[in-house]
Amino acid sequence: MEIATMKYPETKNYIAGKFTANGQKTMEVHSPLDGSVLSTVPLSSASDLDAAVKVAKAAFSEWSATPVKERVQVFFRYKALLEKNLKELAELVHLENGKTMSEASAEVEKSIELTEFACSMPQLIGGEILEVSRGVECRIEKKPLGVVASIAPFNFPHMVPHWTLPNAIALGNCMILKPSEVVPISANRIAEMLKEAGLPDGVFNVVNGDREIVEAICDHPGIEAVSFVGSTKVAKIVYQRATSTLKRCVALGGAKNHLLVLPDAHVEMTASNVVASMSGCAGQRCMAAAQMIGVGGVDHIIEKMCEDAGKLVPGENLGPVISEVAKDRIEGYITEAEEAGAKILVDGRNAAVPGKEGGWYVGPTIIDYVTLDMRIAQEEVFGPVISIVRAKDLDEAISIENKNPYGNAAAVFTQSGGLARQVMEKASAGMIGVNIGVPVPREPFSFGGWNDSKFGVCDITGKSSIEFWTQNKKTTTKWSSEARTNWMS
Ligand code: NAD
Repeated sequence: MEIATMKYPETKNYIAGKFTANGQKTMEVHSPLDGSVLSTVPLSSASDLDAAVKVAKAAFSEWSATPVKERVQVFFRYKALLEKNLKELAELVHLENGKTMSEASAEVEKSIELTEFACSMPQLIGGEILEVSRGVECRIEKKPLGVVASIAPFNFPHMVPHWTLPNAIALGNCMILKPSEVVPISANRIAEMLKEAGLPDGVFNVVNGDREIVEAICDHPGIEAVSFVGSTKVAKIVYQRATSTLKRCVALGGAKNHLLVLPDAHVEMTASNVVASMSGCAGQRCMAAAQMIGVGGVDHIIEKMCEDAGKLVPGENLGPVISEVAKDRIEGYITEAEEAGAKILVDGRNAAVPGKEGGWYVGPTIIDYVTLDMRIAQEEVFGPVISIVRAKDLDEAISIENKNPYGNAAAVFTQSGGLARQVMEKASAGMIGVNIGVPVPREPFSFGGWNDSKFGVCDITGKSSIEFWTQNKKTTTKWSSEARTNWMS
């Protein structure tokens, strides 16, 4: 591939503070906006990973011995760099992922919030100490694990790496990031900026690649913990494989988020929230509204949703989906639902954007009278599409939500506190929204689903992630020679 024809130079691995010359096979990176070639990405092998693990292991002794108050100084400087370069970083996300500039800016702003949380680590991990008997003290300190790995999906090239890297590294670990091979360019900028912020070489490394590298991460004996974000199918494989080699693992999977809409819901607010949730980032968010359950008479709200969806214009305020394969898959679900008797109220198939014929656009799609036996009601579509299932009452709606195998988010739209409370109690999902279409917990609250949307015990961000990235050291000390001796001390 001629570098001159690409918008960005070739993406490289980043090991020991240097972008390494690629001896590996490479793959083209395309912009979903118009299909143009942006860069190439190396498809690394297990030996590239091994080199990164060795470097990270060597950096660990010094970095883990650095006091946390010093470690977070890097992230204060890094946060300032993110703020300074926000527009450039957002443009990169826009180009490689396809989301609109305002969505891309919001993504980088979330990375800033995640970094800010990591800066508060000294306030969060103060140990515990207690005199447990006369002259005898017990203390607990949070210690890092060693070399850890983070495997990311395509839909948030900047934010998902920030779900893990600021916390894991501020807590004293050394990290290997494996970005999605579809959107690898942001990770190279992250590496450059961490170096500029003063992070010592070897503490953060990037190894690009596909399945081969993910499997090598799961198998490598030098890696202590693995975080994964991606589809449920791969999350299961990664969780099983990483834990079979006795690693700690948290693996976040796909989603099918249900939104329960009641007739008393505020019409404008509900319609705009539901439509924004189903269509934001072209529906490629694990928190996107995928299935609305209309409880009783909600036609007036659906009418307003259709009106709002009509204001979304592909290529203007609605970005493309990630690939041609994704576009075909999404349109296939719509056609299959139509053939099975569902009613397409707003049809996003065959969207075309003049001047961007090479891009992969799907318009907003609202499908009513979907029944539970249809494939679209059961599987993750991951596009700007919402299916509406009708329920006679709230109990039936909750039971439909409960039966879906995923459990990332669920939301209820109503003006009744009592009915909302029932959904808060009974929905089988890790993140619940009341009159909110995308109920992402903000820092310091942690992010993570239930059921087939997450495997492993901790959440991936916030306070819960501190438990994931550390282990407790318990020390008992005796300083008084007169202290009594018994079997416990
Ligand atoms: P994906 O599962 O295809 O890929 C994720 C990562 O796994 C990538 O780095 C990829 O290289 C690697 N991979 C792909 N196939 C593999 C295999 N067979 N073996 C080992 N590794 C493999 O996911 P994606 O398409 O990049 O991302 C979209 C999915 O991610 C959606 O299902 C979405 O819901 C999910 N997601 C979930 C969350 C969450 O918080 N639960 C957040 C973002 C995205």
